[in-house]
Amino acid sequence: MLRFASLASGSGGNCLVAESGRTRVLVDCGLNLTDAERRLARAGLQPSDISAILVTHEHGDHGGGVFDFAAAHGVAVYLTYGTRAAMEAEGKVVPGVKVVLVSGREPVAIGDIEARPFTVPHDAREPVQYVLSDGNARLGVLTDIGASTAHVEQSLSGLDALVLECNYDLDMLWAGPYPRWLKQRIEGPFGHLDNRQSEQILSRLDRSKLKHVLGAHLSQHNNKPALARAALARALGCTEDWVGIAFQDEGFDWRSI
Ligand SMILES: [Zn+2]
Ligand SMILES: [Zn+2]
Repeated sequence: MLRFASLASGSGGNCLVAESGRTRVLVDCGLNLTDAERRLARAGLQPSDISAILVTHEHGDHGGGVFDFAAAHGVAVYLTYGTRAAMEAEGKVVPGVKVVLVSGREPVAIGDIEARPFTVPHDAREPVQYVLSDGNARLGVLTDIGASTAHVEQSLSGLDALVLECNYDLDMLWAGPYPRWLKQRIEGPFGHLDNRQSEQILSRLDRSKLKHVLGAHLSQHNNKPALARAALARALGCTEDWVGIAFQDEGFDWRSI
């Protein structure tokens, strides 16, 4: 059995935890150490329960707390060569922390969990997202991607659970408070997914085994949970209450597959 929960989701910080058997991994840690520890406790876990942190990319809302947590609790960090280089350039890499380089070409085994990184278009050095598996059930995470690719959709086909970015509503973004350059960056091909793009991606996937879908990384300025829910429900042909949402502060509670 694979179970997973979100500790935080959004531009204020992202952190997801997945568990199979005695193995627990974080996907990203964009939270400061105190906050990460507090939220883990809320999910019923201690820092010593964590085996590894899988990093998607160096942006602060994903990588900001990774090395502090890893150094404090002796946890290994998995990231791409490019993500490590970018974090080194920012002085974020803490010496002495065990680092394992991953690539978009090969899965890695961490105890009872297999993590399969896949490359995505986003304005970071070498970003990846992950599919996690216990050898049976598969959970896909897709956030921080400007536009879909055939490779992305192939990687996410036939999943049991999907955490899918619904960053913004296009009309709300352009009517909203951000400066023009930032609106263009977010909407651009290396930015983020809007509700409509996420709906289209979901509608093109093999969804035959899908039991959980959660909208994630929602902008607090440029989106509303009800809009994200409605878009994903349209793609699934289901009622909106079936679609979950990952919130900035609450994340979402454990789900099992
Ligand atoms: Zn992000
Ligand atoms: Zn990002």
